[in-house]
Amino acid sequence: MSDSPEFDNITALPFAGVSDYHCHCDFSVDAVGSVEDYCRAALKRGLAEICFTTHYDTNYAVNYSDNYIRIDGKKKQIGPDSLAAYVAAVRAAHERFYPLGLSVKLGLEFGWHDVAEEAAALVRERYPFDYFLCGIHQLGNKCLWGHGDVQGAFDIYSPEQFFELYFHQVTKAARTGLFDSIAHLDYYKRKAVPYYGSGVATAHRPYLDELFTVLSETGTGIEINTAALRHGRDDYYPQMEMINAAKKAGVEVVRLGSDAHRPEEVGFDFEAATALVPSAITGCDD
Ligand SMILES: [Zn+2]
Ligand SMILES: [Zn+2]
Repeated sequence: MSDSPEFDNITALPFAGVSDYHCHCDFSVDAVGSVEDYCRAALKRGLAEICFTTHYDTNYAVNYSDNYIRIDGKKKQIGPDSLAAYVAAVRAAHERFYPLGLSVKLGLEFGWHDVAEEAAALVRERYPFDYFLCGIHQLGNKCLWGHGDVQGAFDIYSPEQFFELYFHQVTKAARTGLFDSIAHLDYYKRKAVPYYGSGVATAHRPYLDELFTVLSETGTGIEINTAALRHGRDDYYPQMEMINAAKKAGVEVVRLGSDAHRPEEVGFDFEAATALVPSAITGCDD
């Protein structure tokens, strides 16, 4: 990576000390680049802190990439035991990069599903995560959107059913108090409009009061995820209306995440996004 054209194109942010709390690496089957590659990219970007959040989804009823982890080039089914190599690699990276000015944190993007609480508690107990992130990528044993011939939740639920169920699940996840943050809160908008129409932009409104009450009571935050810009949108996950409403309701909005799946995406659009979360500038402090 460090000699590739992509690496050469990585530019430093105009300010120092920012953290990126949502990065994959090639332990995630849908990502490329080693832990070390991401750390080098983070240093070149001028970040002070990077938190790895590999995918971890134990709903084996929906067979997709997040049910697997890649170890030494081989795919293995995900589970508490198979995370040991990932945990060791992130810890080793911290030892190596901290003296160079980069703190490397251990996180997980836990894939929430209808009966996930026990699995979440189990894995959280097993490893000393610095950051436990909840990602909602499926609903009712369906991915949010289908792939090829595979039906997705958008295919089987009406808009009313979908948003009711979706926000019910987010609220349920928050109520467990297990998570530091909810990832990409309105991620569904990436593909929902062709199915549900323009009402997608405001469909969250009836559900936010209850959700934000639970988030603030349990100390669960929401991240600002910049990947939406890479998905052809002109906003973040979630949209500004939700970010502002969350802040107003006392929900913690302190983490920026690039959702990088390639090293050159580390700190993606943080030039602009950092203005929304001044506290994302933490400095390299263990
Ligand atoms: Zn992914
Ligand atoms: Zn995610």
